[in-house]
Amino acid sequence: MLQLADSAALREFVRNQKKLGKTIGFVPTMGYLHEGHASLFKKAAETSDVVIASSFVNPTQFVENDDYDNYPKDNKRDVRLAESCGVNVLFLPEVETIYPNEQQVTVKVNDKTDVLCGKSRPGHFDGVATVLTKLFTIVEPNYVYFGMKDAQQVAIVHSLIKSFHFPITLIACPIIRETDGLAKSSRNVRLLPNERREAPELYKGLQVGSEKIRNGERNFDQIIASVRRYYELHVQLGVIDYIEVLNYPELTRVKDKMYGRIIIAIAVRYSNARLIDNVTIDCGHDESEA
Ligand code: AMP
Repeated sequence: MLQLADSAALREFVRNQKKLGKTIGFVPTMGYLHEGHASLFKKAAETSDVVIASSFVNPTQFVENDDYDNYPKDNKRDVRLAESCGVNVLFLPEVETIYPNEQQVTVKVNDKTDVLCGKSRPGHFDGVATVLTKLFTIVEPNYVYFGMKDAQQVAIVHSLIKSFHFPITLIACPIIRETDGLAKSSRNVRLLPNERREAPELYKGLQVGSEKIRNGERNFDQIIASVRRYYELHVQLGVIDYIEVLNYPELTRVKDKMYGRIIIAIAVRYSNARLIDNVTIDCGHDESEA
């Protein structure tokens, strides 16, 4: 596996691979890799000829400085994991490489940001869209792989690709969980022991909501209330940031009729980590349009 920090060297590598007729799969990450990232690398290795991953803790998408300063890092372990999952090139740029001139030009996301993490972390998705625009331009991938763990990000990256005419296909990959149900996240190591014991309840609450939908409940207030009730009983240490039920991938509010794909998404703050999780459910067709 090649390790590159220089964008010109990466561009040259990609150009040569494309001359050989190879397709390029790209997995952007912020490092401190785990099985969630590994699943994206493996999917990329199955479906693209060459796999490029980036590990870059992007300062512009952090809303809280201490979250950025304390973001966990372990480059040596990341290199081993990426290599074992079939990554061909790991791109590890410095901040100055990605941001050579103090944010003179940035990308602003105008849609799908008034809900979920866009609402509670204003500016976060502008930072995400800005760094991805830079990375997509450097890597020029044919395919990009993103995890549904960050479902709002997946929806926004779809819009970014469409808005800027990137000739890229996005492949969304399922959420990988610990055996107790907690969604794998680089931030899980920042949970205190008693918070880590409580954290699997977050997914259980989401399952309560999706079970209600599967049993025929179509009133979104009732679904949110059932998740909230579960958390009131089982989540004592975490503070609920949001519980929302939205159409997916539009991220619009569910009106009286619930059909198509629906997301139940939550965010919960613990002392040193803010966790997010979601489930998506297919609610079937709108009968009136049949
Ligand atoms: P991050 O390093 O947190 O920026 O994540 C990089 C990519 O890995 C994003 O597309 C995430 O959605 C994805 N990812 C993170 N955690 C998981 C997980 N538990 N399951 C699937 N994908 C994940």
